[in-house]
Amino acid sequence: MDDNSFFLATETEIKKAKTTDVYFLRTEKVLKKEKKDHKVFIEVTASSIKGSDWGIFAGVEDVLDLLIGLDIDVYTMPEGSLFQKEDENGVKVPTIVIVGNYLNFGRFETPLLGFICSKSGMVTKTARIRLAAKNKSVLSFGARRAHPAITPVVSYCAYIGGCDGVSCILGAEKLGISPTGTIPHSLIILFQDQVTAWKAFDTHIPKQVPRIALIDTYYDEKIEAIMAAKAIPDLSGVRLDTPSSRRGNFKSIIQEVRWELDHRGYNNVKIFISGGLGEEDVHEYVDIVDGFGIGSEISAAPPIDFALDIVALIGENEDWKPVAKRGKFSGRKNVLRCEKCLKIEVTAWNIKEGLCEKCNNPLKPILVKQLENGKRIHEKRSIEEIRQYIQTQIKQIRK
Ligand SMILES: [Zn+2]
Repeated sequence: MDDNSFFLATETEIKKAKTTDVYFLRTEKVLKKEKKDHKVFIEVTASSIKGSDWGIFAGVEDVLDLLIGLDIDVYTMPEGSLFQKEDENGVKVPTIVIVGNYLNFGRFETPLLGFICSKSGMVTKTARIRLAAKNKSVLSFGARRAHPAITPVVSYCAYIGGCDGVSCILGAEKLGISPTGTIPHSLIILFQDQVTAWKAFDTHIPKQVPRIALIDTYYDEKIEAIMAAKAIPDLSGVRLDTPSSRRGNFKSIIQEVRWELDHRGYNNVKIFISGGLGEEDVHEYVDIVDGFGIGSEISAAPPIDFALDIVALIGENEDWKPVAKRGKFSGRKNVLRCEKCLKIEVTAWNIKEGLCEKCNNPLKPILVKQLENGKRIHEKRSIEEIRQYIQTQIKQIRK
């Protein structure tokens, strides 16, 4: 097998901007031939966030790894920041600012946007599911719905966005957590009998792995739930992965399973559901189940469409000159955010403070200088810190 059999870009190729759009290299060539370059101020803003009036910004570390060593200054919102697409005056909110000569970084536009569009989309969707799921468990089962090369990225996004666990082994390993999962249908089919399969699992799998029986393989969920509860003494839960062709009224099926388990004294047996579930399903079933397995709703979440624009440049007279294409607000901008209600206000670059009109709370700058002349000036934050930061913010907007 040669190294290119999966048709993938390597990290080296990404860092060399080999995945970029060809027009950036042509632009570079023209600018170099004409000896034309400017110190520019660029901003990265979201033009749309599908299905949400807020987003969670993610992909900062990738962007910094991509741009490190270039002679530029880079400011970003911290990883996991909750933001709105635009402020109340309709000004698009910069999530990244780069200051430097265009030729020093222009070719990196495509991979830079790719990192943040994709990751922010997945983290935002996960955070919305986390909110909808209240205090119930949410697990990321989406590895099978994404290209395997990016499954650890899916795991990262799912975990910082608020999933309690991920099923992908490599994703969990990179996150420093234990992978989480139940039982596939194959195990039951191979034994040709649910009870024998559950018991075999119980015999051979370490005790710290919760016993969660899959109960939709052969019979009605109610029947299999009772069989599982009787067969496995410390059964932790049952999982309904009922195919949509057999669901009928899924809510009724779940309620019936709950009733029958409780009626026989199995009140501690939890109910988990999975199988093509989306954010809407989480809203619908949250009060009658204990947890959700979520797949493509996270791993194939719509990207957030970020765009990169030059909004100011140093002209002939050595002053910053506001410039912008149609539809974009020109000039160097700063971003302030109310730490209480998370409302964002875009201001001129030199304005570093303000007051939230809504809650009279001070507004604080949220763009952090991350690279100075290409050198990192902050430590990486830990995954748990980022995850906690996101959870704190989504609790603030729930209020
Ligand atoms: Zn406020």
